[in-house]
Amino acid sequence: GLDQDAVLATENVTKHFGGLTAVDSVDFTVAEGELRCLIGPNGAGKSTLLELITGQLSPTKGHVYFDGIDLTDMPAHERIDAGLSVKFQSPHIYEGLTVAQNLQIPLQRTDCDDIRSATHETLEEIELADRADTPAGDLSHGQQQRLEIGMATTLEPTLMLLDEPVAGMSVEETASVADLIRSLNDDGMAFVVIEHDMEFVRTISDQVTVLNQGSIFRQGPIEEIEADEAVQRIYLGE
Ligand code: ADP
Ligand code: MG
Repeated sequence: GLDQDAVLATENVTKHFGGLTAVDSVDFTVAEGELRCLIGPNGAGKSTLLELITGQLSPTKGHVYFDGIDLTDMPAHERIDAGLSVKFQSPHIYEGLTVAQNLQIPLQRTDCDDIRSATHETLEEIELADRADTPAGDLSHGQQQRLEIGMATTLEPTLMLLDEPVAGMSVEETASVADLIRSLNDDGMAFVVIEHDMEFVRTISDQVTVLNQGSIFRQGPIEEIEADEAVQRIYLGE
């Protein structure tokens, strides 16, 4: 049976692309309010697993459970309404609209009756209050990533999935995204963060899942994972 404390659980989830098994019988669980990092070499199946959870892809086999319900056949937009938000690897902002207007787009999906103050609150949280009227296309890469996380938080998700949120960022930008994730997690939001940058993983998360060749290879605290010689070898084999 399913773990009672799990907010997310995949059960035997498998994805074939033609002859290739990208995700192979994976049981992946995230507890309520947990911040879990998903790591592994290129091609391990991390992004595919995330897209099976969000509904961008349908599994060849297996089930995805969220908040006690079976989502396997639920369309992606309904999963968002159920409390599952995602920020994909590539940016999904509206460059011609201002920062504030970008935040108002997801807010219009909600039953929020004071969009102005909700926008303001999120602007403060993502530290872009002074850029509210700036076209999103004029923001730095790090600011754009914070904006997109902010857009996802306006929906007040139970679980947020982030695919490589600090790729290509400066040290300062990376630190500001780490602070944002930690502060949202302190308020109770669960996270799955796919990341390559081990320094970043160390700053945000204690629990790590290692994916390799479509399967869960190791799970545990970051110190154990980093000290594991078999884990080091799968990275060297890249
Ligand atoms: P990761 O995110 O860990 O780098 P991916 O999930 O992107 O890995 O990819 C896992 C494997 O599945 C890779 O071998 C990749 O080439 C393959 N793959 C991913 N998406 C597709 C697709 N749409 N069609 C065919 N193969 C794919
Ligand atoms: Mg990927």
